[in-house]
Amino acid sequence: MIELKDVRKVFPARGQAGEVVAVDGVSLAVDRGEFAGVVGPSGSGKSTLVRLVNLLERPTSGSVTVDGQLLTELPDEQVRQARRSIGMVFQHFELLDSRTAAGNVEHPLELSGVGRAERRRRAGELLDLVGLGDRAGARPAQLSGGQKQRVAIARALAVRPTVLLCDEATSALDQASTTGVLELLRRVRDELGLTVLLITHEMSVVKAVCDSAVLLDRGRVVDGGRLADVLTRPGSPLGDALLPAPV
Ligand code: ADP
Ligand code: MG
Repeated sequence: MIELKDVRKVFPARGQAGEVVAVDGVSLAVDRGEFAGVVGPSGSGKSTLVRLVNLLERPTSGSVTVDGQLLTELPDEQVRQARRSIGMVFQHFELLDSRTAAGNVEHPLELSGVGRAERRRRAGELLDLVGLGDRAGARPAQLSGGQKQRVAIARALAVRPTVLLCDEATSALDQASTTGVLELLRRVRDELGLTVLLITHEMSVVKAVCDSAVLLDRGRVVDGGRLADVLTRPGSPLGDALLPAPV
């Protein structure tokens, strides 16, 4: 469903000469319906990697294929089109503060020209799906962090994506809300057959929800595989990182 081949992304260094290699030759494959994780320390290139999947960043080199479409070969207009089947959820929710929960969920539908009655209907359904059917009229300021992220997930699902990208989607949440949001992501994956790529710096999050994961370090994949395998593979850096720290 998602295939990256030898992807590199080089940025000009911010405010100084030289360049930063944010992603350094990453190859990655995620199957349809898989819940995949990318884990690594701050600055290892996770956010850049997730933005490369929907071509919010164009790779310096390498190829990105999503759902059989070679995105890196498409002109910008068709990339915009393809991006509609890729939902995204962010650490800080990125909701529109002036709009209600329902208004936020309707926003992408407005942008794709869906009529008002259909928007209302679909926003209602999606808010029910994320357990916020009774908060449709609430503004983000009236919602908890976990509730805001549920609205953001409903919004991401509004255009019926086949892929959901989550960049540190639980990093701003407390433990209870994190658990709730992760359970919701698993459930929407199961019910809607989505492919989920979740980026996080928290090993506990990967362990809780992912079928497979890769460990990123300084822009490179240093280990990866199905969780069940890496946890039992002797000397696996990812497996070791996933195990609880010795007391
Ligand atoms: P992570 O999400 O794992 O913390 P990032 O992908 O945000 O890592 O960043 C990886 C590296 O790329 C960092 O050194 C960061 O400073 C650099 N970087 C990211 N985006 C840009 C940009 N737009 N311009 C310059 N450097 C960037
Ligand atoms: Mg990041």
